Amino acid sequence: MSTVNDKRWGELNAQLLVAMKAGDFAAMGSLYGELARIMRKERKDARHLIEESMRCSLQLMKAAGIVWARVLTSRDELVCPSCKALEGVEFKVADSIERPPIPMLCTANIPKVGNPWCRCTIVARRELLI
Ligand SMILES: [Zn+2]
Repeated sequence: MSTVNDKRWGELNAQLLVAMKAGDFAAMGSLYGELARIMRKERKDARHLIEESMRCSLQLMKAAGIVWARVLTSRDELVCPSCKALEGVEFKVADSIERPPIPMLCTANIPKVGNPWCRCTIVARRELLI
């Protein structure tokens, strides 16, 4: 039986294909994020989609000339020890696209919220945002 999520999943993948053909990393990142949300709602591991979304963010940073980025955790009780150790750690954007530190190094497993990832993210080095 087809569900609402199945229909939406198909629509998002069609949009993703268009974005990929256009090299539109902003749209791709957003679509991967939405696909991940569907999987998390279904209590499934969405880490691979979150990785793709992070790669898109890093590609956008690289295209914008941002050389350094850092890890920003959600700073709550759900942050795993691996991500906590990465808080504020800076890394080169271009060197991290293949293996984004978040969520690649995340060791969280939070089944009660349907999330195998502790919601950390990657941001441009602070002084570049001022
Ligand atoms: Zn983590």
